[in-house]
Amino acid sequence: MKLKRITANVYEIPLGTVNAFLIEDEELTLIDTGTPGSAVKILHAIRSIGRDPGDLRHILLTHSHPDHAGGAAELKAQTNAKIYMHEAEADHVRNGFVPKPDVPVFTGFINKMMYNLFIKNASGDIAAATVDELIDDGDWLHIAGGIHTIHVPGHSAGQLAFFLPGQKNVLFAADTAANIMGLGYAIFYEDFQLAKHSLEKLATFDFDIACFGHGGTIRHSAAARFRNKFMKHAQKISRQTQYIVLDEESVIRIKEPEERI
Ligand SMILES: [Zn+2]
Ligand SMILES: [Zn+2]
Repeated sequence: MKLKRITANVYEIPLGTVNAFLIEDEELTLIDTGTPGSAVKILHAIRSIGRDPGDLRHILLTHSHPDHAGGAAELKAQTNAKIYMHEAEADHVRNGFVPKPDVPVFTGFINKMMYNLFIKNASGDIAAATVDELIDDGDWLHIAGGIHTIHVPGHSAGQLAFFLPGQKNVLFAADTAANIMGLGYAIFYEDFQLAKHSLEKLATFDFDIACFGHGGTIRHSAAARFRNKFMKHAQKISRQTQYIVLDEESVIRIKEPEERI
C-alpha cells in the first residue's frame, strides 16, 4: 500500500479496489474506511506520515457501502474518532448490514459484468458502529480547516460528497462517478435520474482536484472535466440555440445548429 500525496495536506490511501483519503492538520480527518479489515492498513498509513493513530478525530463516511464503511467500527474502536454520515444510511452502519438495491441500474455492459462478478453476491455485513454526527447537504463542518457537505443521492440514497477549499480546491466525489478508464459513471446506481442530477450539481462547484472512491485522482481542471462529461445543459448552451420570445407564455425556437428549419 503506497500513500499518494494529493496536496500539501491531503493523501490518498489506496486500499485495493477502493480509496480512502486522509486530511492532515492538527487533527486527522479520514474520508471513508475501505472494506472490512482495512483498519490496519489505514493505521499504518497514519503512522507512515509520522502521526499517531490517536490523532485521528473525524471519520467522514461518503456512504454506507461495505467498501467505504467496512473499516469504520474498527477504526473507531482503535482511535475513538467520531463518525459522521448522512441520516439516510446511518442505520446500515448502526445495524452492521448494508442492503443492495433491488434493481441496480448499469450504464454499460462492463459495469454490469463487474457488478455481477464482484458485488452481487458479496456480503452486506460490516461491523456495527455508533454514528456520532448526522450531516446533510450544505453543512459546513468545522474540521480539517472547513469542509462543505454536498448531498449527492443516486448511487445510494445518503451519499455525500465533500468540498475542501484551499490553495487547490478538492472535491471528494465518492461514488457519484469513477475514474477507472477515464472519468465515467460508477459501476451501478440505485436511481440513475437522481445520480445524473447529483453529477450536475457537483459540476457547479469550482474544484481543481477530484478524488474518487474508485480510480485515480484527477489533479488538474477537474471541474471542467465534470462539466464536459456530465453537465448536459451546459453543452446545449454552448451550441448557442437561439430563441425568440414573443410574450411571457410563448417561446419560439428559431434556430438550432445542425438542423434545417
Ligand atoms: Zn458505493
Ligand atoms: Zn464504492
